[in-house]
Amino acid sequence: MATICHVCGKPLDETYSVSCMRCGREIHYPTEKSAADACCAVVTQLFVCGLAFICNSCSGPPPKSPNLGGL
Ligand SMILES: [Zn+2]
Ligand SMILES: [Zn+2]
Repeated sequence: MATICHVCGKPLDETYSVSCMRCGREIHYPTEKSAADACCAVVTQLFVCGLAFICNSCSGPPPKSPNLGGL
């Protein structure tokens, strides 16, 4: 069963899939040729040796609430 990228909704190639460090959902690995519209960004964790990935949904600005300040 194919895994679907949570950001772009396209099927994931298991070779090029990574998990978001925040939501844990699987996303496309940011390859060089798709860096412009990658599904995630690479983040370096100082407290962990290695790279981590954060999906566009988590790395982007939080969605603005239409009711912000309206309570
Ligand atoms: Zn994707
Ligand atoms: Zn995420």
